[in-house]
Amino acid sequence: MKRSNRLVARSAVALSLAASLTACGTASSTTTTAVSSEAATETASETEAASTTENVGEDVWLPYNENLEKKRDDRDATGKNGAVASCNWYASKAGLEILKEGGNAFDAAAAVAYTLGVAEPYFSGLGGGGFMTIYSAKDDKVSVLDFRETAPAAANAQMWLDENGKMEQFSLDGVNNLGDKSVIGGLSVAVPGEVAGFEYLLDNYGSDAVSRQQIFQPAIDTANNGYVVGVTFKEELDSEYTGIAANETLSNIYLDESGLPYEVGDVIKNPDLAKTLQLIADGGKDAFYTGDMAQAMVDAVAAWGGNMTMEDLANYEVKVREPVVGHYKDYTIYSLPPASSGGTHLVEILNILENYDDMDKIGVNSAEYVHRFSEAFKIAFADRAQYMADTDFADVPLAQLTSKDYAAERYSEITDKSGSYVAVEPEELEHYATTSFSVVDQWGNMVACTKTINYGFGSKVGVPGYGFIMNDEMDDFSADPESVNCAEGGKRPLSSMSPSIVLYPDGSPYMTIGSPGATRIFPTIAQVIERMIDYNMDIQDAIDCARIYDNASENICYESGGVNPITPEVAKELQDRGHEVTDKGEWQLFFGGVQGISIGKDGTLRGGADPRRDGKALAY
Ligand code: GLU
Repeated sequence: MKRSNRLVARSAVALSLAASLTACGTASSTTTTAVSSEAATETASETEAASTTENVGEDVWLPYNENLEKKRDDRDATGKNGAVASCNWYASKAGLEILKEGGNAFDAAAAVAYTLGVAEPYFSGLGGGGFMTIYSAKDDKVSVLDFRETAPAAANAQMWLDENGKMEQFSLDGVNNLGDKSVIGGLSVAVPGEVAGFEYLLDNYGSDAVSRQQIFQPAIDTANNGYVVGVTFKEELDSEYTGIAANETLSNIYLDESGLPYEVGDVIKNPDLAKTLQLIADGGKDAFYTGDMAQAMVDAVAAWGGNMTMEDLANYEVKVREPVVGHYKDYTIYSLPPASSGGTHLVEILNILENYDDMDKIGVNSAEYVHRFSEAFKIAFADRAQYMADTDFADVPLAQLTSKDYAAERYSEITDKSGSYVAVEPEELEHYATTSFSVVDQWGNMVACTKTINYGFGSKVGVPGYGFIMNDEMDDFSADPESVNCAEGGKRPLSSMSPSIVLYPDGSPYMTIGSPGATRIFPTIAQVIERMIDYNMDIQDAIDCARIYDNASENICYESGGVNPITPEVAKELQDRGHEVTDKGEWQLFFGGVQGISIGKDGTLRGGADPRRDGKALAY
């Protein structure tokens, strides 16, 4: 598609947003060009657009079809030696290259992570953080690496509130009320953990088979050579346009020369980020957390009203934690302890469902099946609101919440009707950020990683000259100063992330799995794991299958399209049981983006990736 045609096709939303903004229209320093799905597969000599794809590689796998709609197939991969499943093809490819070059799953995970920060920059990156659940075959041990962002020392529970205790709005010169101060601007930024996390992983688990340069090179190349904008990228650009346009660094990278969001098929380059990645490749953790780069982050955050200091950055530490462990029908599940609530509630939900002796017979997405999940979710969310926070700051009854006895007690409260459970939070979160990936290597090492900058394009604070975006993870604290999860200096905000590793009943590795999706994360993972165990579903089929969500509001959100949807008859029966129901349509980003790898009993690796986003699994 030629650029002039694309301009005609620009969305009315973007145009009206542009007209209403005084801060947009900054000249772009980024080189971009347009390619369509068709052009990407044409030979280089055929069209101007096709010659562009030569720069980004002729073998680019695009997550959308010739109508510029997300593909709903071609996501899975099968292999014997290694597999990677991520939310982005460039990142999966980076990981697979490292595996093929002889690197282990931990080397490959770092390559995937850094490439995701380049080619899927709206959901995670150097300015963010996350968690990994890893299995080291050599040690036969599962560990959790917590590289979650941490509140700056100066943070406190009142800092976003006006004198009436109400959330203040973030405003800049000329642009008022860009959003809650916990979501956009400097006070939404927590100290990032991503670089510390992957440096820790490489230092402690990486192999000598590949160099640091090899690990960083795919991300550096992707930033220098450019990557094709997919449908999810475009959706995020449009929905976060106002905030992006307000920040000069982000505008320069992610808006075109007219100050408008790039279109599907455009190619974005980010040479500043390539330079930053090279500095980290050469200088390790210190290159990020001290010196010029740290100062640039502190200055960018301060310019937008924040309070993160050089000391906050220098003090950042990865926490190595014992995983939460649970069992569902003799399968073992390892997942995250706080600062994520995800692993605990994943185990709690599966424990509750285990009390039914016919879960494997009632049929996926029958009314009874949806009802049971809905009740288990509501119980978990009520417990989440009551107990869950960073265990360095609060006593959390983890042993109770993950015990079979407690689950049996809660199960006994469930009737055929919709039950009520009290949960003050969470409110319905309508943002779709974060990313998750899985890696398995030929030695059996496994990584499940979920990482984020929180909202799409995070706090909208770009770091000038370095090409990355600071998170707005502070919003994962409660704005209620009385909450167990209120903001405090040095505390990690409560997450729902649940990257998990599952073992077969005989103790051998079965799968690595994770998902983005805010509070939908652990409900989503619970549904996929249950389908694989109870219905013997292939991982891709289990990911494709329609999902539901309920967070104690007695309102079941469901997918009414796609694979194995909730039918109108099922929705009606759920209403008859007292549930409110909300039809979310089909293939909804709302329900996350699961990326996982299962290991067959014969050693076959099956990578599954979510068609709700741009996921792609690769294997060899
Ligand atoms: N920040 C959220 C969490 O840690 C994830 C955001 C998302 O997945 O959209 O749970």
